[in-house]
Amino acid sequence: MSRFWSDIVHRLTPYVPGEQPALAHPVKLNTNENPYPPSPRVVEAIRRELGEDGASLRKYPDPTARALRETVAKHHGLRVEQVFAGNGSDEVLAHAFQALLKHDQPIRFPDITYSFYPVYAQLYGVEYETVPLNSDFAIDVDDYRAPNGGVLLPNPNAPTGRALPLSEIEVLLKANPDAPVIVDEAYVDFGAESAVNLIDTYPNLLVVQTTSKARSLAGMRVGFAFGDPALIEALTRVKDSFNSYPLDRLAQAAALASYEDRAWFEDSCAKVVSSREKLIGQLQALGFDVVPSAANFVFARHSAHDAATLAAALKTREIFVRHFKLPRIDQHLRISIGTPSECDALVAALGEILA
Ligand SMILES: *Cc1c(COP(=O)(O)O)cnc(C)c1O
Repeated sequence: MSRFWSDIVHRLTPYVPGEQPALAHPVKLNTNENPYPPSPRVVEAIRRELGEDGASLRKYPDPTARALRETVAKHHGLRVEQVFAGNGSDEVLAHAFQALLKHDQPIRFPDITYSFYPVYAQLYGVEYETVPLNSDFAIDVDDYRAPNGGVLLPNPNAPTGRALPLSEIEVLLKANPDAPVIVDEAYVDFGAESAVNLIDTYPNLLVVQTTSKARSLAGMRVGFAFGDPALIEALTRVKDSFNSYPLDRLAQAAALASYEDRAWFEDSCAKVVSSREKLIGQLQALGFDVVPSAANFVFARHSAHDAATLAAALKTREIFVRHFKLPRIDQHLRISIGTPSECDALVAALGEILA
């Protein structure tokens, strides 16, 4: 604490990201990174952008990320005015809180969800109500009927991994015609249905996506929002009042190249999904209850072993999983899907710990 702090800083409770251990070869299953590298075309594109002597770095990047937005728009069958690009989808979500979610009524999001949402609400002074998931950790869209100042949910949800069918998202949109509905699709490519195709029908729908998970680019920080041009303009107005150049040159080139290699992207998602299904069976055989997952992680609890103790025991073996000390989920572990050998190491270690 310092007397130099602005008043709001005293009241902030910042988000705490998952640990990035300083070990040579940790089995890192705690932050939902992709276990596979990005397409080789991404690496080539970064080299090309950098050139021999890095002279391109002298100049500011395109403030509108136009080429990237055009490529991503084409990929989704959208127009470029329907696409916003930001420095990671966390930044896109932060802009959405400020640009679209501050109204007279509180916004709603699930009680168990991405723990950054309450942090943004606090930073931007957005009132919110949390809506309990049901006992299966499923979202009941009937709980999100207007009046509210907006609805925000991840699909699939995090950290549960459960997905809502598109028909339910549509129920939500119809029930809230006068409020923004934001669907955070960070994990959609691992098995859920995207709401992108509903954008032309629902001017209140904003879909947020990221290159961090399915496209293996967490280190580049590139995220998007898709929606009606009026929603995109609101985000752009906030962006241009905050940072005109949020995406650096290398990030723009890398993300664009990843959308040009659909086969690589689809193959790495398929590998993750296949490892997920295998891991679910192995965890169940060890006595875990596993929430059905459409994401690149699973959410599991053991009836006879405390979750924090299990996470600590795994950590001594340099295996990192995520434990949230939060109501209703403090006996669960969120485990990212690793390579087959990382999953095997996890299962072997759990076998020893539980024995
Ligand atoms: C990982 C994640 C994000 C943020 O991703 P960025 O790396 O900032 O693009 C957003 N929402 C959810 C639910 C996530 O799990």
